[in-house]
Amino acid sequence: AGYLNPRQLCVSLADAAKKKLHLITHTEILKLRKKEGYWQLIGEKNCLIAEGEKVILANGFDAQRLLDFNGLSLSRSRGQVDVVATQEKISGLKLPVCHDGYLLPEVAGSHLIGASYNFDEFSLELSVSDQVENINRSNRILYEKLGVEDTPLRGRASIRTTSMDHLPLVGPVPNEAAYLADYKNICHGQRHERYPAASYRSGLFITTGHGSRGLVSCFAAAAYLTSLIAGKPITLAKDVAHRLHPARFLIRSLKKRPGRR
Ligand SMILES: Cc1cc2nc3c(=O)[nH]c(=O)nc-3n(C[C@H](O)[C@H](O)[C@H](O)COP(=O)(O)OP(=O)(O)OC[C@H]3O[C@@H](n4cnc5c(N)ncnc54)[C@H](O)[C@@H]3O)c2cc1C
Repeated sequence: AGYLNPRQLCVSLADAAKKKLHLITHTEILKLRKKEGYWQLIGEKNCLIAEGEKVILANGFDAQRLLDFNGLSLSRSRGQVDVVATQEKISGLKLPVCHDGYLLPEVAGSHLIGASYNFDEFSLELSVSDQVENINRSNRILYEKLGVEDTPLRGRASIRTTSMDHLPLVGPVPNEAAYLADYKNICHGQRHERYPAASYRSGLFITTGHGSRGLVSCFAAAAYLTSLIAGKPITLAKDVAHRLHPARFLIRSLKKRPGRR
């Protein structure tokens, strides 16, 4: 029942953490490697961007490439939100209207409408056909047509990352090779006591797959990871933490007989 501006939110969070934060932006991480106990983030020309004993990957769909781990079972969709000028029919809107999409109250003479879904196109350029889709969606919400002739293309397009069961993946990164070796017989249904404890890539954590609801789930995920890393009581119920576990798809696959994976 609320709305916020993601850019402003990120800026104010970064401001609040200023003294503890060394922020590096507009830098692509091409490789992740471990050297002498430190995870190193490597950019262009093999340049070391940052390193640490603990690293949390929060980079959406690209996490599986950096980890070289397909067992995360991530998929992606492109989404676009558009901005339309305020007009009589909607200028008095007090709350967001959500149905098949959403239409937000006026901010600085404009309304945000959205959002589109594309599963086979991942450009971050704004698209006219998505704008039309969003306008049509708003018309359906309002039961009447917005006046949008010659509306300039204004808004934002980006990528959502989703998991196969539509829940985020949050927690320690599994050691895939150890899982494949240690649990290779799990498909035969042997009792769990016979298996070794799960093995992880020490110091490496992940939060991704927040889909269309990240503005809600990212904060709970961050609090959970903080408690996990700091060795404090975890902030999620145990069964919830299990449902978000980054190895759950790997385990599901290992439980199937080899020909059916
Ligand atoms: C159009 C649209 C509308 C949405 N509306 C809502 C909404 O109303 N409510 C809601 O809760 N959620 C909404 N979402 C979903 C929400 O935006 C996501 O769930 C949320 O952003 C996920 O946060 P994240 O930090 O996990 O990933 P992201 O926000 O995707 O952030 C990942 C970041 O990592 C960067 N990155 C990736 N790879 C690398 C690399 N190799 N090196 C360096 N950086 C890298 C990316 O550039 C990106 O900035 C919407 C999404 C879209 C696309």
